[in-house]
Amino acid sequence: IPLPPKHTGELLKDVVAQARALPNEGAVADYIPALAKVDPNYLGLAVVELDGQVHTAGDAHVPFSIQSISKVFGLTLAMERMGDSLWERVRMEPSGQAFNSIMQLEWEHGIPRNPFINAGAIVVADTLVCRYSASRTAFTQFVQSLAQNESIQVNEQVWDSEREHGARNAALAYLMKSFGNIKASVEHVLDHYFYQCSLDMSCVDLARALGFLANRGVQPGTDEVVCDPRSTHRINAMMSTSGMYDQSGEFAFSVGLPAKGGVGGGLVAVVPDYGVICAWSPRLNPYGNSHRGMFMVRTLAEELGLSVYS
Ligand code: GLN
Repeated sequence: IPLPPKHTGELLKDVVAQARALPNEGAVADYIPALAKVDPNYLGLAVVELDGQVHTAGDAHVPFSIQSISKVFGLTLAMERMGDSLWERVRMEPSGQAFNSIMQLEWEHGIPRNPFINAGAIVVADTLVCRYSASRTAFTQFVQSLAQNESIQVNEQVWDSEREHGARNAALAYLMKSFGNIKASVEHVLDHYFYQCSLDMSCVDLARALGFLANRGVQPGTDEVVCDPRSTHRINAMMSTSGMYDQSGEFAFSVGLPAKGGVGGGLVAVVPDYGVICAWSPRLNPYGNSHRGMFMVRTLAEELGLSVYS
C-alpha cells in the first residue's frame, strides 16, 4: 500500500461533493419504519488511520443507525468467547441470497451460511445472550471502548420499531430454534439482536472502533488486544466474501476491501495496515447497501490505491 498522500482530507471533501452530485438513486429502508424518517440527503465520510489521524467530510460526526455493521462487533465478541465451537453453529460461506433470506436455513438444517446475514447474526446473538449475564450492557461497553466514545447509545425508537416489525427475523430465529441451533429463548435473543442493530454511531465512531481489524487485532490508540491475528484474518476474510451480502462479489471486484454494510446506510471498509473508511448515505440499492456509500468508498479506494488485491 502506497503512503497516503498528504491531501487525504481534501480528497474526502471532493469525493463527498461528487457523491452529492449523483442522481438520487435508491431509497431509505422503510421495512423498519423508524429508519424511513431519516433525512435521505445525509452524506458522511471518514477515514481513521492507524496513527490516529482522522479525516472527515460532510456529516461524518452525525450518529446514525449502525444496523448490520453491529454484526462485526457481535462476531468479534462471540469468537473470543466461543473459540472454534462457534463454527459448528454458523458457516463461513457466502450465501448468494438476500440478507434476510430464509430458504437455505430449511435445506441446511438451521445452520446459517455466515455470521453476516441475519440468520447468522441471530445465532451469534444467541451465543452472547448465553455467555453474558447482561449481553446488551457488555455489547455497548465493548463498542464504546473500541470507539473511545462513552456517549454511544441505543436509539430507542429504532429498537421499538425493529421489535414491532421483526416478523421476518422472528421467523428465522424460530426456524433455527426448531433445529436446535438457538439455545436461549427466541424473545431474549431477538431483543439482543434488535438492540445491537439499533445503536447509533457516527462515521468517525465506526472507523475508529474497527481499527483493530486493520492492525492484527490490536486497537490503535489504546493498544488493547481485541482479538488475535488469526481472528482478525478470519473476520476480514468473511467481510470480503459476505459483508456486502449478495453484492460482495461485485464489491471485491470493483473495490477490493473487506467491508460491511447496513440498512441504515453505513458502510465500513478495512484497509489492513492503513486504517478504516466509513461512509454513510441512507439511500439503499436493491441489495440493501448504501448507493452513495458504495460510490464514496470505491472512489476513495481507487484514488488512494487501497485494494488488497492489487
Ligand atoms: N436490523 C436489520 C434487520 O434485521 C439489519 C439488516 C441490515 O442492516 N442489513 O433486518
